[in-house]
Amino acid sequence: MNPTVAMKIHNFSAGPAILPASVIRESAQAVANFNNSGLSILELSHRGPELTAVFNEATALTRELLQLPSDYEVLFMTGGASTQFFIAAMNLLDKDETAGYLDTGTWASKAIEAARPFGHVQVLASSKSTTYDHIPTGYYIPKSLKYLHLTSNNTIYGTQIHEYPDAGQVPVLCDMSSDFMSRPVDVKRFGMIYAGAQKNLGPAGVTMVIIRKDLLGKVDRKIPVMLDYRTFIKEKSLYNTPPVFPIYVSMLTMRWIKEMGGLTAMAKHNEMKANILYKEIDANPLFKGNVAVQDRSLMNVCFTMHDRSLEPKFAAFAKENGCNGLEGHRSVGGFRASIYNAMPPSSIQFLVDLMREFSKKQG
Ligand SMILES: *Cc1c(COP(=O)(O)O)cnc(C)c1O
Repeated sequence: MNPTVAMKIHNFSAGPAILPASVIRESAQAVANFNNSGLSILELSHRGPELTAVFNEATALTRELLQLPSDYEVLFMTGGASTQFFIAAMNLLDKDETAGYLDTGTWASKAIEAARPFGHVQVLASSKSTTYDHIPTGYYIPKSLKYLHLTSNNTIYGTQIHEYPDAGQVPVLCDMSSDFMSRPVDVKRFGMIYAGAQKNLGPAGVTMVIIRKDLLGKVDRKIPVMLDYRTFIKEKSLYNTPPVFPIYVSMLTMRWIKEMGGLTAMAKHNEMKANILYKEIDANPLFKGNVAVQDRSLMNVCFTMHDRSLEPKFAAFAKENGCNGLEGHRSVGGFRASIYNAMPPSSIQFLVDLMREFSKKQG
C-alpha cells in the first residue's frame, strides 16, 4: 500500500479488478526479489527451474480447485477471452456444422459474431430486446449442435447463470471470465471453460483455458500453430514465451483461494457479500436493481436510481469517499459494484452506509 494515500480506496472496478491484498504484496516482493534469488521474477527465463515450479503449481492448483478429471487440460494462453471467441470456433466448428449460442449480453454477442466465419451459428435464445435484463430459459437445444456456447456471468448487465441448462450430449463451452473460481463448477458438464484472468484471478495478460481433449482434431481446416489448442497441450503452454507474471500472480490468487477454503467457501462468501448490497438496493427508496431477481449476479451488482438526475450526485459522493470504479459500463450507465472474490465484506458495508447517508440527506 502506498503510505502517502491517507484515504482507504474501495475498488469496485469491473476489470482489471481487485486482488487480495496479500497477493499484491507478494507480487511486489517477487518483482523486487523473487524467492531471495536476487533476481526479479520479470527477468527469469521461462524455461528455468524457478518458473517451471510456478507453472506446475498454477496448473496443479487449477486442477485441484476445479477438481478436474484427467481428460481435461489446463492451458495458459494470451489474447484475452476475446481471442477465445474466435479460436474456439476455429478449433471446434467445421464449416458445414452448427453451433448454438445463448445471447445474454455484449460479450456473448461478440462471441457469436466471432464464430460466424467458421461455421453455422444458431442463436438459441436472446434477451437483447429487454436490454439483457434476464437469462433466457426454456429454449430448445438441438442434439445435432457441435457445441453450445454460454456466458456464465454477464459482466456489463449484472446477470449470472445460477442453473446451467441440461445440454445432454452436446458439449458446452463457457466463457467464465467474470466468475471464474468464484464458485464450484461441475466441470464434467462442460467441454471447455475459458476466462480472461483480469476479472477475478490476476492481472490482464493470461487467459485460462480448460478443455476436454477428445473435442480436438475433428475439423478439416488448417489451424495456425499458435491458435491450435493442441500446440498448447503438447508443449504445456510453453511453445512460445507465456505471460509469466500474470500466471505467477494468478497462481498466488489460487493459493489464497485454497487457504480461504476453496471454491465452496468462496461461493458462500460471495453469496453473503452480494446479499448485503442487494438488500440495501431493494430497501433504499432512492435505488433500484436493473435485472430479474433470480438472475442477479453475485459478481457485478448493477443498479440505478429512481430519479436518474441524482446519479451524478451519488457518483460524486461515492468517489469523494474513496469508492473507485462504481460507474456502470459506458453502454448502460447507472452504477455497477463489482464485488469479486477479493472484495472484503467491509468495503460492501462501506458502500451500503454511503447509500443510506445519501438517502437521508435527500430527506
Ligand atoms: C471482460 C470480459 C470479456 C473480454 O475479455 P478480454 O480478456 O478483455 O478479451 C469476455 N467475456 C466476459 C464475460 C468478460 O467479462
